[in-house]
Amino acid sequence: MDYRNLAKKYGTPLYVYDFNHISTQYTQLKSAFSGRKSLVCYAVKANSNLSVLKHLANLGAGFDCVSIGEVKRALMAGAKPYQIIFSGVGKSDDEIKIALQSEILMINLESEAELDRVEAIAKELNKTARISIRINPDVDAKTHPYISTGLNENKFGVDIVTAKKMYLKAKNSAHIEPVGVHFHIGSQLTDTQPIIDAAKIVSKILSELKSLEIDIKFFDIGGGVGITYQDEEAVNLYNYAQGILAALNGQDVTIVCEPGRFIVGNSGVLITSVLYEKFNKNKRFVVVDAAMNDLIRPSLYDAHHGVEFVGENEQNSTCDIVGPICESGDFLAKNIWLPTCKSGDLLVVKSAGAYGFSMSSNYNTRVRAAEVGVEDGKDRLIRRRETFEDLVAFETEFLK
Ligand SMILES: *Cc1c(COP(=O)(O)O)cnc(C)c1O
Repeated sequence: MDYRNLAKKYGTPLYVYDFNHISTQYTQLKSAFSGRKSLVCYAVKANSNLSVLKHLANLGAGFDCVSIGEVKRALMAGAKPYQIIFSGVGKSDDEIKIALQSEILMINLESEAELDRVEAIAKELNKTARISIRINPDVDAKTHPYISTGLNENKFGVDIVTAKKMYLKAKNSAHIEPVGVHFHIGSQLTDTQPIIDAAKIVSKILSELKSLEIDIKFFDIGGGVGITYQDEEAVNLYNYAQGILAALNGQDVTIVCEPGRFIVGNSGVLITSVLYEKFNKNKRFVVVDAAMNDLIRPSLYDAHHGVEFVGENEQNSTCDIVGPICESGDFLAKNIWLPTCKSGDLLVVKSAGAYGFSMSSNYNTRVRAAEVGVEDGKDRLIRRRETFEDLVAFETEFLK
C-alpha cells in the first residue's frame, strides 16, 4: 500500500482499511464451518464504519450489535434483519421496542429482569420476541481482565441454573420464542481451548432443553478469536471449528459466531505524521499527530501495536511514540526501535482496524481521523475528517 500517497491525498492521522483483507478473513472463518449451517455475525463494535458493514453485508455476513445504534447502522448498510443479533447487558425499553419492530433474528438476553422487560414490550406490540440467553459458563478465557467476560465475577450473562429457569419461563410465554443459546467468554483469545470448553458446557444444556421440548436452533459461540499483534501465534481455525463441532456432538443447530477483531484487526492501519522529536535527558520521544483519542488501546490495555517507519533510514534507537494530548498515558508505543525522525516523516501503526476508530473520541477537542477503504488497489474516503464546526455544533445554539 502506498502510505505516502494516501497521507498526501487525505491527510493524517488517517485510518486505512484493506477491504480485500476483510473479505479474506470473513471467508476463512465462514469456510472453517463449511458443510454445517453457520452464520458469521460480525461484531459491529470492532469497527462500525458503514462502508465496512456494507462490504461485509455483501459478503453475506450477519451482524452482532450491542446498541440500537449499531442495529440501525447494520440495517442502513444493507444487512438483512433476520441476520442481526442484539446483545448487551443493558438495553433500554426504546431499544427493545425498535429491535422488535425491526424483526431482527434474536435479542440476546443477559438477565431475568431483561426477559420480563422484553416480554412486556413484545406483549404491548402484540409481537413474539425471538430470544437467546447469554450463559456465563464460568471459564477462564486467559486474556486481559478488561476483555475477559466469561467468569462469574464479570457482569455478563447468567449462570446455568438461572438460564434454565429463564428458558422455561420463555417457553411458557405467549410473547417469547426461545431460539438460541449464547456465550462469549472474552476477546483476543489466542488459545481457543477455553471457547471449546465453554461450548462443551453449553452444549449439554442444549440437550437438556430439547428434553423439555425447547427447540434451540442457534448455537452462538460469541467472538473472541485473537489475532497477531506482535508474536502471538495465529489461531488454527480448523482446530477451533472442529472443537466446536465435537462439543456439539451431532446436535442439529446453526452455529453462529461473532468475530470482530479477527475480521478487521489486521485489516487496518493508522497513518500518522511525525511532528518532532524531543529528548528528556536520555529519553527519546517521537511526537506524532495521532494520539490516545485516535487509538486508545495502548493506554487502556497496555496493548502492543507494531509501528513501521515509512521510507529508508538506518540510524535506529529506542523511543516512545507519543501524541499531543495532555496525559502521560498518551502513547502509541513504548521502547521501540525507530530511525531518527524528522517533521513530516510518516509512521504506520499496524493492526489498528479493530477497536481503533470505533473507540476514538474528541478528547482535547481533537477532530477524529478520516477513514479510507482500499479495495483492488483503489482507495476511497469512507468517513471524512471531522471539523472544529462538527465538534461544537451541539453547543453553539445554547451560547448566551
Ligand atoms: C465484543 C463482542 C464480540 C466481538 O469480540 P471480538 O473479540 O472482537 O471477536 C462478540 N460478541 C459479543 C457479545 C461481544 O460483546
